[in-house]
Amino acid sequence: MTHQATTHDEERLLRRAIELAAQARAGGNPPFGSLLADGNGRVIAEERNTTLTDADITAHPELKLARWAARELGPETAAATTMYTSCQPCPMCEGAIRRSGLGRVVFALSGEQLNALKPGGDFPEVPQQGPTLYDEARVPVEGYY
Ligand SMILES: [Zn+2]
Repeated sequence: MTHQATTHDEERLLRRAIELAAQARAGGNPPFGSLLADGNGRVIAEERNTTLTDADITAHPELKLARWAARELGPETAAATTMYTSCQPCPMCEGAIRRSGLGRVVFALSGEQLNALKPGGDFPEVPQQGPTLYDEARVPVEGYY
């Protein structure tokens, strides 16, 4: 994560993302909004959080934009985009953003600042166990890539 000064145009795009967050909240959802801008700073897609109205824990705006970009944009166009988001992407969205090939993310509120505003803080970690059954589990993978 780098702390670099945002330009006037970037602050305008971040303020639009914050506006989308307020709209999400007004619509009965958690208060998060994001948009994608192309290489010229033009808005090409916007999303709001809809986790409650969709009853879908993955309906974060960043994830919806990453899926849209991976489906609709060619790799070069995706790489030229910047995501402006009212809050730093969570680990789920960060994974989708990495897979989608977006160029850059600029956020307003950090995840740490968000958790300080949330009574329960972050979600608890789920224990993971493994690796095991290597000889069996590698069979469907070998030769695929
Ligand atoms: Zn997320």
